[in-house]
Amino acid sequence: MINKRIKIDYDKEKIAITTICSHSSLQIFHGARQEGFRTIGICTKEQERLYSSFPLASPDRLIVVERFADLLQENIQEELLRENAIIIPHGSFVEYVGATEILSSFSVPLFGNKAVLPWESDRAKQREWMLSAEIAVPKAYSDIAAVDGPVIAKLSGAKGGRGLVSARNGQELANKLDAKMLDQYTIQEYIFGSRYYPHYFYSQIRSRLEILGIDRRDETDIDELYRYRDFIDHPPSYVVVGNQPLVVRESLLGKIMKYGEGLVETSRRLFSPGLFGPFCLEMVCTADMKFVAFEVSARIVAGTNLYPLGSPYSPYYFTEAMSTGRRIAREIREAASQNRLDEIIS
Ligand code: ATP
Repeated sequence: MINKRIKIDYDKEKIAITTICSHSSLQIFHGARQEGFRTIGICTKEQERLYSSFPLASPDRLIVVERFADLLQENIQEELLRENAIIIPHGSFVEYVGATEILSSFSVPLFGNKAVLPWESDRAKQREWMLSAEIAVPKAYSDIAAVDGPVIAKLSGAKGGRGLVSARNGQELANKLDAKMLDQYTIQEYIFGSRYYPHYFYSQIRSRLEILGIDRRDETDIDELYRYRDFIDHPPSYVVVGNQPLVVRESLLGKIMKYGEGLVETSRRLFSPGLFGPFCLEMVCTADMKFVAFEVSARIVAGTNLYPLGSPYSPYYFTEAMSTGRRIAREIREAASQNRLDEIIS
């Protein structure tokens, strides 16, 4: 087994920004190249052609694996350590490699704090974290009998919106859910309103919280439900297939910032040294203009792919076109030049 703790003495000229070819990897490679880094992509045979085809975003080197979980193999980890790799975790990375395995068997330095993984991958812990940050969350029901209004039931873990079931009341929910699987569902109040998914970045190096963009997921087929008026009984699905850009009414920006600050501050107490790098809150803005959050993603989210050349907010922080991918690379570059890499890597 590879040494659990790696001494981080990376030469900034030799660092290879590395990630799995999926999710937000083109943006990560593109941003890393803009900041002058070498890049490595982990891909499968079928992806090789696609990920070699972007002159300005293809990684400098592709390591081909049979499946992404092969990243846990000792020879691949050793190869990445030799390459001075820093892994940028994204949703597919956590999903394919597994939070438990990343914590127990993965020794290549990761951008961000690994200690967030247990908090992010468990809906009950996420809720505890959001409540401690004074973020409004949907009412939770421990069993169907207690349901007293419209609800949405979710399976545990990030499923890209798969397997969600909405219902007008407890009776309807009981009819829709498989009785044998009831204990695997989290039941939440259904929040009516507009969805806003802000992209935050907390910089350890500059000690500041930035809002780098906002999106809304495009979910099939709930987001086109108005087209199905003739099929009124059609049960909607919430599978995420894309993202739409958004700006928020400026008077609401302060509330979004306050939620982000709350998450960063409480995280320091819950899992030291806390949350840093990119993160996102999935929220609904209700008709009385309150934000109710139902999920935290403590890493780069796919909605940031909308803004490879910057968002409507990034010009307020940077004169250059700043994507979240580039922002990560900038943080690594600044940390390396100040000999502070150990503060942003785990
Ligand atoms: P992922 O982990 O990939 O983000 P998931 O399977 O964990 O997805 P959620 O993100 O919790 O599921 O929810 C998916 C979608 O369902 C949301 O984007 C939103 O459209 C809707 N949704 C979730 N919770 C609520 C809620 N409490 N009220 C209204 N809509 C909700």
